[in-house]
Amino acid sequence: MIDFIANIPNILVSAQKSVDLISSIKNLIGTTDNIELQNQLADLANLLIDQKTNVAEMKEQLLQKNNEITSLKKEIDCLLKKDEPEFKFNAYVFKNDTGRYCTRCYDADYKKIRVIRTEKACIYRCQNCKNEHHSMLS
Ligand SMILES: [Zn+2]
Repeated sequence: MIDFIANIPNILVSAQKSVDLISSIKNLIGTTDNIELQNQLADLANLLIDQKTNVAEMKEQLLQKNNEITSLKKEIDCLLKKDEPEFKFNAYVFKNDTGRYCTRCYDADYKKIRVIRTEKACIYRCQNCKNEHHSMLS
């Protein structure tokens, strides 16, 4: 995978070199009376400076997002380890919780969706995916 954040300093250096190059070109043609050319070079330099600022801001945002992702991954790992379900009565049960939860929703989406007893004895239904769980014990 390409590390875009690691390449950002190179992009910023290139942008700065481009701005410096434009200044050199302006100095070389400084004696000319071509105002339009001078204005376009100034506009080009301003665009590069704006892009340089945007790239620097993007780098900060990417670093912040990476930190958030790392933190959330740690939190997910911690939650999954702490709240490991036990398969019981054709559903999942969790420590310190008397409810029964849908195995499909937890396995597929890590969602704890309580299964509700239906009018039929020993049959529980998930309110999310509508799967029915047949429990040997009611
Ligand atoms: Zn479900």
